[in-house]
Amino acid sequence: MSRTGKRITAVLFDLDDTLLDWSGQTSHFSDIFRPHVNNMYTHLAEEGHPLPAREDFFQCYTDTIIAHWAEAKKEFTGVNFGNALTDCFTQTGLDTDSIDLTAVMRAYNCAPIPGVTLFDDTIPVLETLRQRAYKIGLVTNSMLPMWMRDVELHAYNIIDYFDARITSGDAGYMKPHPVIYTKILTALEITPEQAVFIGDRPGNDIAGANAVGITSVLMSPPHLNHKLNGNEPDYIITNLSDLLPILEALEK
Ligand SMILES: [Mg+2]
Repeated sequence: MSRTGKRITAVLFDLDDTLLDWSGQTSHFSDIFRPHVNNMYTHLAEEGHPLPAREDFFQCYTDTIIAHWAEAKKEFTGVNFGNALTDCFTQTGLDTDSIDLTAVMRAYNCAPIPGVTLFDDTIPVLETLRQRAYKIGLVTNSMLPMWMRDVELHAYNIIDYFDARITSGDAGYMKPHPVIYTKILTALEITPEQAVFIGDRPGNDIAGANAVGITSVLMSPPHLNHKLNGNEPDYIITNLSDLLPILEALEK
């Protein structure tokens, strides 16, 4: 039993489509990332690197990222953004030894994606959890290092709610691989039995939580409708506020 006397002491969240609402985002994926790739291209050009045409660079970036994700999904290893960039630079003939990767990633200029917002109840729920003394964690399948996604968390004004947060890019493994779950549990100094995980993807969020013994909650607003494919969550909610009575029930 924890110092708070509760069985559940931590609430772990997926980010995209769980705390952030992507339903208003309608652009093609490549159009979302094009401005950021342009930013990196401009930075490299200003640094004097001999670049291919902008469109060829964009194509190489896109192909490389797709290839790295396809490879990572075989064993649920995490795509490492720096490694993917280095691979792309090598393919475009750049001298990777002369490139400051961190500076390139800064030039990417991570920012909230147009049309992606918080759900109406994201902040009220996080606020309630904090008032109830739960530790709050974030686990996202993102190739970007956490410091890049943190820019978004700052912009949405939610970063201060998290006691620990991790991306698959940093963890080296992606959900549903158990290692990314054990890393966040270790960071929060809790056991699986003390945690609840909320995510929208049955195949990774729920499957992974179930496998390590974390109580699983599927975030399933009507517009998502992901198939369970045998990955049964302990609970299903259609909005984040529904989580609060579940946590109360788990204490009884
Ligand atoms: Mg998600």
